[in-house]
Amino acid sequence: MFASKSSKKTAVVTGGAGFLGSHLCDRLLTEGFRVIAIDNFITGSPDNVAHLAGNPDFRFIRHNVSEFIFVPGEVDFVFHFASPASPIDYLEHPIPTLKVGALGTHNSLGLAKDKAAKFLLASTSECYGDPLVHPQNEDYWGNVNPIGPRGVYDEAKRFAEAMTMAYHRFHAMDTKIVRIFNTYGPRMRLRDGRVVPSFISQALNNEPLTVFGDGSQTRSFCFVSDLIEGIFRLAMSDHHGPINIGNPVEMTIKQFAEKILEITGAKGGITYKELPIDDPKVRQPDITRASTLLGWEPRVDFDKGIRITIDYFRTKLGA
Ligand code: NAD
Ligand code: UDP
Repeated sequence: MFASKSSKKTAVVTGGAGFLGSHLCDRLLTEGFRVIAIDNFITGSPDNVAHLAGNPDFRFIRHNVSEFIFVPGEVDFVFHFASPASPIDYLEHPIPTLKVGALGTHNSLGLAKDKAAKFLLASTSECYGDPLVHPQNEDYWGNVNPIGPRGVYDEAKRFAEAMTMAYHRFHAMDTKIVRIFNTYGPRMRLRDGRVVPSFISQALNNEPLTVFGDGSQTRSFCFVSDLIEGIFRLAMSDHHGPINIGNPVEMTIKQFAEKILEITGAKGGITYKELPIDDPKVRQPDITRASTLLGWEPRVDFDKGIRITIDYFRTKLGA
């Protein structure tokens, strides 16, 4: 894979051409790793890693990780980030979503086991479903509808966590699990359907912002650089249980829409649409564990992070 021997460690990032995976590749390269990104572009884009072309420490493999993964040479770390992540994406690709959470996780763990590499799973706050405990801490087992439309994602990730813990316990592998809460920032797809790119692109086009339901459901938004810092700290740690990484500042979706209108000066207002089935009513991470074990807390406040993201979308839209 890499022509010459090197003292550098090698990390594989599945989903490396996605929003989070590409930021993780950047961070690992900055930290002195060699990086092999694997992606089939089902929801990602070559644009996200185009700036890494020609970097001697970066390689890209176009591959569906739900099929057997072959990587020649040594591997020290496997980061499994491949999976559709936006509700619109996983409703459009329900079976590939189930497969990448189940078979893709199995293959990624198999790769890590074969190479005696460490493994980190990108899990999700969706494991808590429509939570009955608020804020959500890692000891809460969740309230997930397995047969609803979101079940394809939630249950795949819950299976992925179970599989990861089985490899840790049965094969004594060094594994880690991050439960990622809503994260936003540059490189999100304009039309991936998640609320941040949806509202920003609607505002920049002077279209009404589509609030689902009455907008009283809550989310807590984390800027991407904070998330990647938390993930890197977790990767370097010795903790094997799941750890929430997210920003605990919670707001309703209506408040979020109003903020976007205020910052962009958009005049399109708000339009209300039907709330999707099983849409969680509240979501806020309890980050006590991340703060105690990793010394991690988010640093980028919402106003700063959202302005950076709006500027990114402005450039993309030529607005
Ligand atoms: P994304 O859609 O931008 O990235 C996912 C990447 O995985 C894409 O590049 C896609 O093409 C790739 N992929 C999907 N299936 C694949 C397969 N079978 N083989 C190879 N590549 C495949 O989404 P994201 O926001 O960057 O999410 C990355 C990971 O983080 C996902 O596992 C997601 O579940 C998790 N996560 C993200 C968030 C968030 O707020 N962004 C929240 C919770 C969990
Ligand atoms: N949402 C919305 N309008 C949109 C997209 C999403 O009101 O155009 C709402 C959605 O119903 C949910 C919240 O925003 O309550 C966050 O949705 P997103 O798809 O970003 O991710 P989720 O947190 O549901 O996984």
